[in-house]
Amino acid sequence: MDYITKIVKHHFDVVILGAGGAGLRAALAAVNTGASVAVISKVPPTRSHTVAAQGGINAALGNRSQDDWRWHMYDTVRGSDWLSDQDSVATMCANAAEAIRELEHMGVPFTRDENGLIYQRAYGGQSTEYGKGGIAYRACAAADRTGHAILHTLYQQSLRLQAQCFIEFIALDLVFDNEGACAGALALELETGSLHLFRSKQLIIASGGFGQIYAQTTASTICTGDGNAMILRAGFPLQDMEFIQFHPTGLYGAGVLITEGARGEGGFLINGLGERFMERYAPAYKDLASRDVISRAIMEEIRAGRGCGKHKDHVELSLSHLGADIINGKLPSIRDIAKTFAGIDVFHAPIPVTPSVHYTMGGIPASTSGQVLGKEDQPVQGLYVIGEAACNSVHGANRLGCNSLLDLMVFGKIAGEHAAETKDKPHATLNTATLDQALARFNQLHHSTGEFTPATLRREMQARMQNYAGIFREQIALQEGMSQLDILWQKLKNSLRVRDKNLAWNNDLIEALELDNLLHQAIATMASALYRTESRGAHYRSDYKKRDDANWLKHTLFTIKPDGTFTLSTRPVRSAGGDAPDFKPEMRNY
Ligand SMILES: Cc1cc2nc3c(=O)[nH]c(=O)nc-3n(C[C@H](O)[C@H](O)[C@H](O)COP(=O)(O)OP(=O)(O)OC[C@H]3O[C@@H](n4cnc5c(N)ncnc54)[C@H](O)[C@@H]3O)c2cc1C
Repeated sequence: MDYITKIVKHHFDVVILGAGGAGLRAALAAVNTGASVAVISKVPPTRSHTVAAQGGINAALGNRSQDDWRWHMYDTVRGSDWLSDQDSVATMCANAAEAIRELEHMGVPFTRDENGLIYQRAYGGQSTEYGKGGIAYRACAAADRTGHAILHTLYQQSLRLQAQCFIEFIALDLVFDNEGACAGALALELETGSLHLFRSKQLIIASGGFGQIYAQTTASTICTGDGNAMILRAGFPLQDMEFIQFHPTGLYGAGVLITEGARGEGGFLINGLGERFMERYAPAYKDLASRDVISRAIMEEIRAGRGCGKHKDHVELSLSHLGADIINGKLPSIRDIAKTFAGIDVFHAPIPVTPSVHYTMGGIPASTSGQVLGKEDQPVQGLYVIGEAACNSVHGANRLGCNSLLDLMVFGKIAGEHAAETKDKPHATLNTATLDQALARFNQLHHSTGEFTPATLRREMQARMQNYAGIFREQIALQEGMSQLDILWQKLKNSLRVRDKNLAWNNDLIEALELDNLLHQAIATMASALYRTESRGAHYRSDYKKRDDANWLKHTLFTIKPDGTFTLSTRPVRSAGGDAPDFKPEMRNY
């Protein structure tokens, strides 16, 4: 390996993998304590997927009607179908108002109501008085560009505070010290093709979700769960990988998201007969039931032959009754997206929509302070995880809309502060064998000369996931999916071809690296979906239609060896503890 002598070395107190909302919030928290901080991102920070978030960020501010963080906590636990770790949910909801105030003071241009207060809209699954008091207005929004407003503000602040950003650097793998603590990461600089070793005292993974294992998704092309795959390669587990959120309203054909905020403002879904079918499935919450419930309802309508269009394969979202003030004032991007990608004028026609993969609830198990939990639930020293990559687990089996941006802000700050605590200690000695391993994998992919391009295998994987692990799942299809993925795994390991042998700007190689990461997680998702023989939240088994608390009120853990053999196990769900309420499982009705 001729690379090894040329590796550029960097030393920081805290190294953060990812410059989305989570990574940048953690960077600000760590820099504020005086720690030296590196933020590594494979794309310019403001292109991270957080920029695409539309609808808002939850906090029980009570600007529009009375509210309480405990009601928010109850909704989150109910939304999660009781699989969330309630200590994490309590932490998130109790810190929400402060997180919004901090963002507002940093300069996020939130939309205002007539009294000058932060505007709050209704969102799916949000109620008052523990589900008994009707719909809550809890989502703070900057029109329908909330993620854009937050991410740009955080990036401006990180420039002001001089967190050092390494832009267009792709992290390849983690490295460890002799005690097994994380000691940093190896990365490739895309422009030059040079390798960089970032040594950390604490490393924070903030590399986002893995929606790209599916063909139809609202997630950006870069959402390949790279940090999750690094964890698997390091021998640690991923948790709850079967829970994939399908958002009810992806734009038909294009897959671009049409925010739930459109229904929060009063938009509703109709089937091919022009019926408001959600009244049948969720009589109380209708179009504001949780996402898993609405996505399944849409698929039921389509299966019953009541879809819209020539192929009866989608439904429609009607907004025209909302009027120009609401559409132009609160949903300007939705108006533009419908026009640009579907040629639809929302003032006069409904938008064709279909469920699309949107959020990955599973990921790297973590404690409430963001520490990665490794073997036997023990914290992995030197290693944190936040944002969509993390499963700490605030979202359990199903995430409620506008809870992710909040999750990024609350746990980003907590992890950033914790990670900075060791800033005065020296760096540990690197276990060079772990660096050699990272280099060997990189070298093997770079020099692969088989017959299949990364793009071909990625498309095949996405089609398999869509077919065999979609909204409705059952044993035979999942088993077939597993054997199909095994064939892809063999092709990846033995017959991949990376045509470009340069190192600078080598998209072919980057696609190969991302494919390897994706396929690890596709297998984790399919295997965990086969393992969990119940229906809960976003995971629906047609052959096990009921939630089974006696056997399955627990998280699944997946680990995989380099030869592709894997293990599945479980760990208990955490309760709230302290003064926070603890919500016992109930029937989940909307
Ligand atoms: C279309 C859309 C709309 C949404 N709307 C909302 C909403 O209104 N409200 C809400 O709460 N949630 C929303 N969500 C969910 C939410 O936006 C995401 O879950 C969240 O933004 C993820 O943030 P993150 O910081 O974890 O990761 P991301 O924003 O995805 O950022 C990941 C970062 O990691 C970096 N990275 C990844 N791999 C590597 C690597 N190997 N090397 C170096 N860098 C790497 C990337 O460059 C990037 O900077 C939406 C999601 C989508 C897809």
